[in-house]
Amino acid sequence: MADIIQLLPDHVANQIAAGEVVQRPASVVKELLENAIDAGATHIKLILKDAGKTLIQVIDNGKGMSVTDARLSFERHATSKIKSADDLFQLNTKGFRGEALASIAAIAHVELKTKQEQDEVGTCIVIEGSEVQSQDVVVTPKGTSLSVKNLFFNIPARRNFLKSNPVETRHIIDEFHRVALAHPSIGFVMYHNGSEVFNLPVSNYRQRIVNIFGAKTNEKLVPVEEDTEVLKISGFVGKPEFAKKTRGEQFFFVNDRFIKSAYLNHAIGSAFDGLLKDGAHASYFLNLTVNPQTIDINIHPTKTEIKFDDEHTLYAILRSAVKHSLGQFNIAPVLDFERDANLDTPYSYQQKGTPSVTVDSNFNPFAEEKTVSNTSSTVSSSNTSFKKTPAANWENLYVGLESKGNNIQQDFSEVHFESEQQNASIFEDKKIEQKQSTYQFHNKYVVSTIKSGLLLIDQNRAHQRVLYEDFLKHITVKEGMSQQLLFPLELHFSPQEIEIIKQLQSDLEHTGFVFQKIEKEHVEITGVPVMVPESEVSIILEQLISDVENEVPDSNFSATDLLAKSMAKSLAIKTGQSLTAVEQEHLVNSLFACKAPSVSPTNRTTFVTMTVDELDKKFV
Ligand code: ADP
Ligand code: MG
Repeated sequence: MADIIQLLPDHVANQIAAGEVVQRPASVVKELLENAIDAGATHIKLILKDAGKTLIQVIDNGKGMSVTDARLSFERHATSKIKSADDLFQLNTKGFRGEALASIAAIAHVELKTKQEQDEVGTCIVIEGSEVQSQDVVVTPKGTSLSVKNLFFNIPARRNFLKSNPVETRHIIDEFHRVALAHPSIGFVMYHNGSEVFNLPVSNYRQRIVNIFGAKTNEKLVPVEEDTEVLKISGFVGKPEFAKKTRGEQFFFVNDRFIKSAYLNHAIGSAFDGLLKDGAHASYFLNLTVNPQTIDINIHPTKTEIKFDDEHTLYAILRSAVKHSLGQFNIAPVLDFERDANLDTPYSYQQKGTPSVTVDSNFNPFAEEKTVSNTSSTVSSSNTSFKKTPAANWENLYVGLESKGNNIQQDFSEVHFESEQQNASIFEDKKIEQKQSTYQFHNKYVVSTIKSGLLLIDQNRAHQRVLYEDFLKHITVKEGMSQQLLFPLELHFSPQEIEIIKQLQSDLEHTGFVFQKIEKEHVEITGVPVMVPESEVSIILEQLISDVENEVPDSNFSATDLLAKSMAKSLAIKTGQSLTAVEQEHLVNSLFACKAPSVSPTNRTTFVTMTVDELDKKFV
């Protein structure tokens, strides 16, 4: 047989390598920022258009490149940073694999302008899909400017695979944060579509964190310092009472490189043991310095995972350092930090007076069966306090949908003995005076009867569905009702959170929000949707922002849909909440008035049914 192995041409090899190094615009941002840092820049500018899909440009004032180096930098395995494999264990630079520029040039339109301090003029190279288009002499300031346009222009599949602009922007901002946090002594600016998103002057570490995450962060930080033979720690953890529901602000830097480590994250978690509310995540910004010889960075192309020689020791030191700080700064939850629940009563409730739960001590859900099976007449007299409102007719709707597979068309409450009529019409079910038709179970499910059997509704998911359809309707017809606030509500957010609010502003307004001002770090709200209590506004917006940040949407991502989902999630009746008979019934009726009652907005089952047949089978 003939030989079949051949060497891949360079541009193909580069494209393949690009698949590992460049997953999305944010990967390009990371590589270019790191190159600028390695070049000794003290000021770095990042310019983006359309979430980096159209343009990513990084301009630095670093050492620049000579003509030959400029050309060579796009070759694969071309690096100035290591000379031998041994150098891998004494890295002082971010890069060392020499494949970023080659990879990027294989899948985009790239223009490089660079000049070294001592040179009069610089070099400009244009490369498209690994092919050099031109190389010229240019007048350019000291340093390097690299622009990457039309990412994945020659790999449509990859380009189509990119997420929506808000999601890609989010990824870019994440990378930008990681790099900027690791280097407070370098100034960074970021522009997106012509407007400045971040301007981070040279500062100390605390100021850098505050400049990125907003002024309100300052009071949340507790310093952590530790200096041992094997590990030096410096940085901050967030006070427990500010811990977030979503994993957001968690940063480990090892020798100035952002890394992910579930193991070290666990060390922090255990240091916070007992201090965090359920489901909350501590935030941390920690710089670890270790001997470069004790780590291996080259285990992953994006270099965000590293291998430590002695993880166990690091774990122990880290845990005790964080514990020590929390103790030293006297971080135990104090009364002042607890929210006064009275101030928070949503005003729909204030008008109603204190909500109360009425318990009927005579009510026994299991008694029902007995009474029903005795005689029909005793039912109506024994349980008068649980009379059914006759208006509810969702059962009929529902049975209509289900009737295909169901021949048993009798009300469950009428299931008595064989002697009972089996073929009663579905619409003739009001012969007996009805009791309460619903019953809440474990403060989680609402149980009800339908003609064919038993219905179990998940109260939280069902209500999400109801609210979701309602919000969606308001947003799309653009007529959400607004309630004017007596005093404008001022809420603080970090700059990137403000970016997200801006992107969603018009949709939010359609639901009934009225924004008086949206400024760099705060918004002023003068109106909110009718169904949203004022006290919930900030929680809803925070939830929304975190949903946008964490969304991994498919290509048909829509901000409208996300907004409706997120608000429904925030406002829906929670598991654990007890509902009055009227509320239960209202929920059931509203659910079956929905277009898609059977699933929650996130596609989870809202109710299950059990037919009499199925129940009968259980009793054999
Ligand atoms: P690596 O960073 O792993 O060395 P790259 O492909 O990212 O590989 O870059 C190749 C080389 O190009 C670098 O080693 C460096 O010498 C040079 N280079 C890249 N970007 C810059 C820059 N902004 N300023 C100066 N030199 C640069
Ligand atoms: Mg590099």
